Amino acid sequence: LACIAIQSNQNDQHGGQSIPNFDYGLAPGVAKTYKKIYTANLYRAISLLVPESGITREDIKKKISDIEKSYGLFPSLEMSTEYKEKEKEVILPIVGDEDIYKKIQSFATNLALEETEKETAQAMEGLVHNLNTMHSRAGAQTPFSSINYGTDTSAEGRMVIRNVLLATEAGLGNGETPIFPIHIFKVKEGVNYNPEDPNYDLFKLACRVSAKRLFPNFSFLDAPFNKTYYKEGHPETEVAYMGCRTRVLGNTYDKNNEITYGRGNLSFTSINLPRIAINSNGNVEWFFEELERKMELVTKQLLDRFQIQASKTVRNYPFLMGQGIWIGSDKLSIDDKIGEILKNGTLSVGFIGLAEALVALTGSHHGQTVESRNLGLEIVGFMRDYLDRLSQEKQLNFTLLATPAEGLSGRFLRIDRKKYGIIPGVTDRDYYTNGFHIPVYFPVSAYEKIQIEAPYHALTNAGHITYVELDGDPNKNLQAFEQVIRTMKESGIGYGSVNHPVDRDPVCGYNGIIDDECPGCGRKEKDGPYKFERIRRITGYLVGTLDRFNDAKRAEVADRVKHNVQ
Ligand SMILES: [Zn+2]
Repeated sequence: LACIAIQSNQNDQHGGQSIPNFDYGLAPGVAKTYKKIYTANLYRAISLLVPESGITREDIKKKISDIEKSYGLFPSLEMSTEYKEKEKEVILPIVGDEDIYKKIQSFATNLALEETEKETAQAMEGLVHNLNTMHSRAGAQTPFSSINYGTDTSAEGRMVIRNVLLATEAGLGNGETPIFPIHIFKVKEGVNYNPEDPNYDLFKLACRVSAKRLFPNFSFLDAPFNKTYYKEGHPETEVAYMGCRTRVLGNTYDKNNEITYGRGNLSFTSINLPRIAINSNGNVEWFFEELERKMELVTKQLLDRFQIQASKTVRNYPFLMGQGIWIGSDKLSIDDKIGEILKNGTLSVGFIGLAEALVALTGSHHGQTVESRNLGLEIVGFMRDYLDRLSQEKQLNFTLLATPAEGLSGRFLRIDRKKYGIIPGVTDRDYYTNGFHIPVYFPVSAYEKIQIEAPYHALTNAGHITYVELDGDPNKNLQAFEQVIRTMKESGIGYGSVNHPVDRDPVCGYNGIIDDECPGCGRKEKDGPYKFERIRRITGYLVGTLDRFNDAKRAEVADRVKHNVQ
């Protein structure tokens, strides 16, 4: 059902979608399954051990549901003493003997746990499989799906988290790495970050799975700009991410709805920072004036586009609006305009190539000098201030995005190189660097990269991500992997992930690092018709081959250097 919901929604909208509460959302389904299985096994045990009772399946079902109706108590993974007492009152008279009753109860409890775990595991396998094979009507493409989880500490929520991670670790079919969904594990102190936390075991498992499959990514609920919205017991106030970076949380339009549920980004447009920097001829003052003019132009364009979106009716979005997915749409009729409720969404300005812009302005990027680091924060801070002021003025949500730039990174570069020629450190590669990232070719330790990029996470409220590139197989050093994630958390990163090589031999199914020869079966690539698969992350999404990617992205992947974790 979760897959069908994603598929149906995809037919109504452009861009990817994200489930902000995968664990909380599916836990009630696990509870329902447990209740059903427990009741069935209770009946089986009674009919086997006390056949003379003549009790029927329907009788038992009714007795259990009567307990729920009268007292609100029911069999569950965390079986309450209150429920057990009520059950005993009803079942013991049928069984007659206290010892036999105890046996019956323990049989039903053990089997219910075992079978619920198995059904949940199968459901998660099915989900991962379906999300990698289903297609949406629009463009016959697999929907870009993301799921956020990690903070539900109920036994049912934990079972969902554990099994979706294990299904991802196992992989598809013959051990293939699943491309979808993108997993985001929410890290939170007191919930899963420290050894004494109830979901710490799941955080460890998430690290292990990510070290093998590149997902989950990690989001950090304690980063100050996320924590400010967090209300304990209200999972809708926990930040959630979509795909490779986007997010919604703050809400200037409606301060009572500073939540992640039912909202999204309406559109975004990116600014080419290197172009402005080249044109400034090193005049920083002029750079900021020109940047302000560009901000004005882009936000006007976003508003124009918003007017078009706002003129649509519920009828145009039968699932997204008709089924009440978008916040407030449940109160509208089919021919009502959606403009007012769309104001809960965000209009985002993106930027690309901060690194190259800094080189054009000062001769060095933010990985190289403190001066550039400060100027970088000034530039991005300037953009954020502009958008905050505009949000107040218009009572809309204008937010700032560190653009991933799937196509733009090469396109902007080509236009600029044609116009300005090759400028060292600016237009001499085939791509501009993502958002605020340190250039992928620049040698820097994992720790330094995290420290330099973290302050930008606080400024880019529409989305951000920091990657660390690890060499070798992190499965063989899970401690180092976990240390990188912990450093991200302690440094104020909002969203991060670790890149490492994941290779697979489609012939024998070996999964790990393959150089020339497959460690699984010893064959070499040139021996057979099948190439080894090399899974890499390109702008947040996993791909098995770079053949279909544009030259700019291929060049970017080839340039990446590993980050030392010592
Ligand atoms: Zn092999």
